[in-house]
Amino acid sequence: MPATVNVNGRVFDQDHAVISVFDHGFLYGDGVYETLRTYHGGLFLYDRHMRRLRTSADMLALAVPLSNEQIAARIGDTMRAAGLGHDREEAYVRIMVTRGIGDLSYDPAATPEPSVVVIVKPHADLPAGMTADGVKAALVPIVRNHPGSVNPLIKSNNLLNSALAMQEAVRRGAFEGIMRNYRGELAECSTSNLFVVRDGAALTPPLESGLLPGITREYLLEIGPEAGVPVREQVLRDPDLFDADECFLTSTTREIVPIVRVDDRIIGTGKPGPVTGALLAILKRKADELSQPVLERNG
Ligand code: PMP
Repeated sequence: MPATVNVNGRVFDQDHAVISVFDHGFLYGDGVYETLRTYHGGLFLYDRHMRRLRTSADMLALAVPLSNEQIAARIGDTMRAAGLGHDREEAYVRIMVTRGIGDLSYDPAATPEPSVVVIVKPHADLPAGMTADGVKAALVPIVRNHPGSVNPLIKSNNLLNSALAMQEAVRRGAFEGIMRNYRGELAECSTSNLFVVRDGAALTPPLESGLLPGITREYLLEIGPEAGVPVREQVLRDPDLFDADECFLTSTTREIVPIVRVDDRIIGTGKPGPVTGALLAILKRKADELSQPVLERNG
């Protein structure tokens, strides 16, 4: 998995990409990030990812020092150096903006310049069997962050809540860990959003349940009806999961993955269902049609 990395405007291979140990992203997880992928070399839903990056940064009172066009130019430079894009391999793109380098202090005045890092590497599709057969998830005891603590609305580099949930899922032999919020409602997975299907409609917890506003989740709420599938927000609890007709997770890099088992319980028929399939088909179609060429756009 060779990566190519842009650190504050300079491109390095993965062995030479370094940042100071005094960067507050490293010291405190004080920063925000976005993960995107390309389709046919173009970035999908770029403007939405940039909007979320800025919202996340605003919630930390962190200034993003570049315009969307400047960030796209850095992605383009890094993809070009990596030899990714056009009809070559698709790219995974991670953008990180951290508080920057400074003294060992939480005072934002200690760090005058935010750091901007772009990591690009080949995008790897999930093994086809996972989409065809579905995956097992685990309902883990790690509680999703309370919104009054590190608000899950922020896509922050402070990722221990998610890491602990995924560690527990891995211990249980599961692909993902599903988390509840502090009220016991279902919230989301460690790196993806959660949907259940009931009576033909796809239901996902509302943002008030305390979760990341996933771009794929948000997009499915809009395009579901075009595939004949009503998609709605609804507070969900354990029985909604266990009694669902279908269940799936969503994320930018994994699109839609059917969940056919949660711990030792089978969901629905135990096979990926038609509603999940219809939503995946329309998402892929939109991604093929709408991804914007980052390389042409930036010379
Ligand atoms: N929830 C969490 C906690 C995540 O880390 C991710 C991945 N970014 C998602 C949901 C899915 O969001 P998106 O569709 O924007 O990739």
